[in-house]
Amino acid sequence: MEGRTCNARAELTRTLSRLLGPAQREVGCDECFDELDRYVEVELAAADADRVVPGLRAHLEGCPACREEYESLRVLVTTEQAPRA
Ligand SMILES: [Zn+2]
Repeated sequence: MEGRTCNARAELTRTLSRLLGPAQREVGCDECFDELDRYVEVELAAADADRVVPGLRAHLEGCPACREEYESLRVLVTTEQAPRA
């Protein structure tokens, strides 16, 4: 019974990775948090952040908590970088 569940899960993972493409990998909230600084920096440097931190954009799209963290970090960094008049 447990083996069947396991196989079904593996099958689902395979199906998902087929749908999302081989470049996509799953990013958890912990990893998202760790990489968020870097992701925002790369993104503000107009580089392809999704290539530098694969899977993070997908996680942000599906995770409101991290999305909120990302948006406030972006505001923070943008404000810091803005030239002061
Ligand atoms: Zn998350």
